Amino acid sequence: MIKFGPSGSCEAFAEAGYSHTVEEAKWLAELGLDCFEYSFGRGVRITEKTARAIGEEFKKYSIEFSVHAPYFINLATLEEDKAANNHDYIFSSLKALCEFGGKRCVFHPGSPLKAARSDAMDVLMKRLDKVMELKHEYGFDDLWLCAETMGKKSQLGDLDEVIRMCKGYDTLLPCIDFGHLNARDCGAIKGYDDYKRIIDRLADGLGDFKTKNMHVHFSKIQYTDKGELRHLTFRDEKYGPDFEPLLKVIHEYRLEPYVACESAGSQTMDALAMKNYYKSL
Ligand SMILES: [Zn+2]
Repeated sequence: MIKFGPSGSCEAFAEAGYSHTVEEAKWLAELGLDCFEYSFGRGVRITEKTARAIGEEFKKYSIEFSVHAPYFINLATLEEDKAANNHDYIFSSLKALCEFGGKRCVFHPGSPLKAARSDAMDVLMKRLDKVMELKHEYGFDDLWLCAETMGKKSQLGDLDEVIRMCKGYDTLLPCIDFGHLNARDCGAIKGYDDYKRIIDRLADGLGDFKTKNMHVHFSKIQYTDKGELRHLTFRDEKYGPDFEPLLKVIHEYRLEPYVACESAGSQTMDALAMKNYYKSL
């Protein structure tokens, strides 16, 4: 079944008088949402005890839990010590994900820095191979890593690059961030046909299973000619993209993604707006 929920705790959560993630499960369940993404953006800093306590609450209320690995990951790095750090970030995220009782971990693939883009992609594919080998060795076969499409043109992770990454590995799913795709191509997603084209390309590249079960990030995002600048809320009418035509395609194709809303501050209510619109179809 398709799932909707916020990425991180929003303003309304704080305004309702809550402060801890452990309280989030009941709150989301009462609102009628289905999933929650916990960000380790600046590092994995949670004790096993806290993670398990949070996980128990989410299990009790049947809210799916996913995590976002730290933003420092760069699988295209040429430096071996930084490659070792990548492993640290990824596997400490997966360990915490286990403790939370979740199944999906999203990561940002990386940037070429000074290398040529195609060379950087080759390095990234080699590093990814090592990550997936270690993932198996460490016994994380039942968890999914999700490679995200990125919002800045300079970053690795356009749609075709994410397809290339996910192709060779059973437990690597695409995380399609439609706001990022729109921002990196300066407003290319105008409506239904553009969403359909993206999803058809994904299905051509990765097949039905990974398309049906993809991870989705959604928010409106302000951009410049270099791509992403900052996340907005659904009140924005200038930058887009609009969620309604995306949900029409998802509904028509009977896809069942996790949709994590990443609006700036209003992510829970915006996730709810998406869910309510989907239910009306
Ligand atoms: Zn992300």
